[in-house]
Amino acid sequence: MKDPSNLISDLRRAMIKGDLPPWRAEAALLDKGVKSPIHFYLAALTRKAYIEEISGEKFCHLHVMERPYIQPWRCPKDDIIYNLEAQEKDLTCTVCRSSLKPYKGSELSYAPLVASYVAGLEDYISYCGQVTVKGEVNKDFINLTSMGPGMSAIGLARGCFLVNRWGGAEVQVEPLATTARCMGHIFADPGVRHKAQEIIQANLDKLKAIVNEGMAKVGAQVGEVVFDTGALGSDHFLYVCFYADLPEYRGHGEISWSVGQAREMADSILRKAGVDFKLSVIAQGYDGDYKPSPSNKRGRRASAQVRVPVKEMEDFLGKSVDRFLAFNEMDRLGVEKLGWFYHTGMGAEVISGLYKATRVNPRMPMTTCLERIYAHVEGNDLVYGVELPTVEVGVWSSIEGGIPPIGREVMRIMGITNTREFCANLAAQVMAGEFNLACEIVRGKLYTKGVKRLY
Ligand SMILES: [Zn+2]
Repeated sequence: MKDPSNLISDLRRAMIKGDLPPWRAEAALLDKGVKSPIHFYLAALTRKAYIEEISGEKFCHLHVMERPYIQPWRCPKDDIIYNLEAQEKDLTCTVCRSSLKPYKGSELSYAPLVASYVAGLEDYISYCGQVTVKGEVNKDFINLTSMGPGMSAIGLARGCFLVNRWGGAEVQVEPLATTARCMGHIFADPGVRHKAQEIIQANLDKLKAIVNEGMAKVGAQVGEVVFDTGALGSDHFLYVCFYADLPEYRGHGEISWSVGQAREMADSILRKAGVDFKLSVIAQGYDGDYKPSPSNKRGRRASAQVRVPVKEMEDFLGKSVDRFLAFNEMDRLGVEKLGWFYHTGMGAEVISGLYKATRVNPRMPMTTCLERIYAHVEGNDLVYGVELPTVEVGVWSSIEGGIPPIGREVMRIMGITNTREFCANLAAQVMAGEFNLACEIVRGKLYTKGVKRLY
């Protein structure tokens, strides 16, 4: 192959001018006569050059794979088709260990690792557009994500493009997040439990002070303390849940250790007062860690919405805006009929993709994936928004855990410098992803013959 650098510069320039969507680089290279599968590598290099130019940031740790595509193989014994990364060295069957043979099916040939691949050796990073947020955070973000192999990254980029066209995402992000840890005591009878609760309440300032001392390391303070009770047979439970508010870190480790100390102090106070308990524990069922419950108070609320003039929306949809609202209602009711209480649609993909790419604390998106979608007409505008009630995240590395270089690099290129910016970007991305999906469904474009699959 002759030196492709001129070709890459030409395409990069076309991307900057807006003539070539970055996810169409592969198609443009094939048009210019580049042979498959070499075009996958050149497309990734072109997107990388484009992102470096628009962000002003260099890729240092993130590496572009030379063969960023999937190659199909077949086990001659089991007839299993394997779609393997092209640089895979283990070319044996997972089941029987026979040597795999190249597979040349009618449909299957080379495929991209992920849509709009840009870098990454094991976590494949896709470029998925840029999004402007305004309101409580004002910033333009370049979205990098680590999503599955489907069309989501492209759908997300399209959604962001639409949101930006209509003025960007208006975001709200709570200034402080909440973290929680619950101490629990088990008593032989409700009378003793009642006495214990009174004693703990009378000593609450001392207990709070000891929690505050620990939480100061992450800039946090106890907000409220909630008392609750329960019983099973002859066991009578007392829950005393400490909630602390914090600006940057997730604070989970700190509150665990701090409430652990408060519990030891409570035990000694109860013993001195002659109050007998069967067991003293951390009652983590009550404090909501990773539990998708409507009463979970952990994390912080973030939301994003876009306003689209009804007339423009109807032109875009080719349908009345009422149909769009009805679809959203149908979806919401569908969730309710399943017995769930929140939507988790694109959120599940977008949020886990961002967590995985940025490697922030935590890397598990379960509670954060809860989302509420709303849509209504206000004056001459359609307002479409997504609310994330419990975003649990800390982007600054702390004693709770390090952040590997890949995560720091992704955030540097994206433009994320603190937790509120992370939440603002997250809410805007989820909203853009949902908005694009809703539009495509209502326009009748999803999963139809007219759309070319990647696989
Ligand atoms: Zn086999």
